[in-house]
Amino acid sequence: MKRDRPRILALLRGGGRFLLTSHVNPDGDSIASQCAVRLLVEHLGGRADVVNSHPVPRAYRFLPGSGRFGTRPPKNWKPYRAIIVLDCGDARRASGLLDPRPPLPVVNIDHHATNPGYGDLNWVVPDACSTAEIIYGLAVALGVRPEGELAAALYTGILTDTGSFRHGNATPRAFRIASQLVASGIDPSRIAQSVYESVTFETLQVLGETLADLRRTPDGRISWIRLPLALLEKLASPSESEEWAGYPRSLDTAVISVCFKESEPGLIRLSFRSKGAVDVAALAARWDGGGHRNAAGATVRGSFEDVERAVIAAARRHLGRP
Ligand code: 5GP
Ligand code: MN
Repeated sequence: MKRDRPRILALLRGGGRFLLTSHVNPDGDSIASQCAVRLLVEHLGGRADVVNSHPVPRAYRFLPGSGRFGTRPPKNWKPYRAIIVLDCGDARRASGLLDPRPPLPVVNIDHHATNPGYGDLNWVVPDACSTAEIIYGLAVALGVRPEGELAAALYTGILTDTGSFRHGNATPRAFRIASQLVASGIDPSRIAQSVYESVTFETLQVLGETLADLRRTPDGRISWIRLPLALLEKLASPSESEEWAGYPRSLDTAVISVCFKESEPGLIRLSFRSKGAVDVAALAARWDGGGHRNAAGATVRGSFEDVERAVIAAARRHLGRP
């Protein structure tokens, strides 16, 4: 779905005002890609406003311009030439901005393999490690040198979506682009510190409580953590727990892990993680979710205990016999 790339480049070269959004519960790649596209648009003489359904998670507030991101859809679409949806594999997850569809061209720039191409213009690259990687290519194609704040944003998206270069998407190309960004003069240790080592005392304590309740199947191949509302409410914001799905996967025997999060009474958000060839996007599809092979999600209605039981049973069937 690279066919619309030239038209997207022409649209951005034309300047004017754009509206940017991403998926609900935006992550590092979402925020970083939005910061980067905003900088690019400004560099080309245009302007971009960013609106997401949720505020910028604390860990990414160091990114340039993220302090000006909004959470309310515009009342008037007229000033905008297009809405650019970044890092969002499903129109229903586009921060509510595509439902109903606004009277604007929709530009879909993403790297989820499950993305159906819901935009009027689409640039979907499933083998890109992150949307930030695609935006790097966009910058180069537009003749904008990735350095300074732009380079820091792009590096952050690549860093977070590859799980600090640990996941299967840490390709030679991802390392090559990261290397070029570091060579441009950004400080990777400062970025790592901002993203991973700026957690509040209270958040770490809640993480401790959550891990004390870590669960696993008798064979240890499936591990999971639970975040009921009562626990989530102890956090300054639910987004503080955005990356916790990685903890149960770090168990030596685990190949599938799940983070169950009660986003509201009777509504459970599932975050799946897996190792190697085990495809959790296919598992998440059972509940109309999606994502990547090793990181996917879905949202399910039901009581916490019922959902937990049903999901673990499905994960066991998904793995089959050892
Ligand atoms: P997370 O567990 O961090 O929320 O999401 C992991 C990956 O799965 C991300 O790439 C995210 O965009 C995707 N994802 C999470 N929930 C859903 C969902 O309900 N539908 C789809 N299509 N993708 C999802
Ligand atoms: Mn991404």
